[in-house]
Amino acid sequence: MRMNSKKEKRREWNRWGRERGLKNRKEYIEERTKHCCERCGNKYHPDVFDFHHRDPTTKKFNLGFHRWRKIVTDKETLKEADKCDILCANCHREVHLEMKRDEDSIRHRSQRTTTNESVVHSS
Ligand SMILES: [Zn+2]
Repeated sequence: MRMNSKKEKRREWNRWGRERGLKNRKEYIEERTKHCCERCGNKYHPDVFDFHHRDPTTKKFNLGFHRWRKIVTDKETLKEADKCDILCANCHREVHLEMKRDEDSIRHRSQRTTTNESVVHSS
């Protein structure tokens, strides 16, 4: 009484793909960072690291684990990863806060006459 082996196979493949993706991502991070954040230099578990695009305008896609599944055939992933700093989650947040602050100050300078914009920060 085996039900729907096709579905099961698909589920199996998805699980394999996820594990494979996470593994490749982890290996890449370990190889490049040697477990150290490229900003603060602290040592962390590979899962703590994020990919941060140095220049958002060159960003083609996010580097989620599904991208790493086919790392062997997909050199695009590696090319994309080269454009990134590998930062611990904490630094990644701080970098984005800084970027936002810069953006805000630029906006304030160039639009001094329009003050009707209030931004609510949420974490
Ligand atoms: Zn850091």
